[in-house]
Amino acid sequence: MKITCDLAMDLVDIYSSGAASADTKNAVDEHLKTCRSCREFYKDYRSDMKKKKIEKQTPNLRFEANGVDEEVISRTLSSLSKRLRKRQVLTTTIAAATAVFGLAAFLYDLISDYRKGKRR
Ligand SMILES: [Zn+2]
Repeated sequence: MKITCDLAMDLVDIYSSGAASADTKNAVDEHLKTCRSCREFYKDYRSDMKKKKIEKQTPNLRFEANGVDEEVISRTLSSLSKRLRKRQVLTTTIAAATAVFGLAAFLYDLISDYRKGKRR
């Protein structure tokens, strides 16, 4: 499929992010092979994106270097407390089930002893 320069430039974002469909990618590839000005445009766009990415990452890196990445800490804490809560529920359930079972067995013994005693 042949596309115009305008279309090729419109697609630069979706193409460079890797989100383009195979058809779009092929059309852009085909256009870039034959169009020098769009090739330059795509090259500039990609180097701009790289710069922006680095700028975006830098404050984060500084944050982590100081050892206070709050997002990571809060995520770890919340998953830890979720795990602890699950374990607590399990332990409580087992304890309750054991108690109920023990009580039932005790009552059953008591009742059958009582019945045996009555029959005698
Ligand atoms: Zn072009």
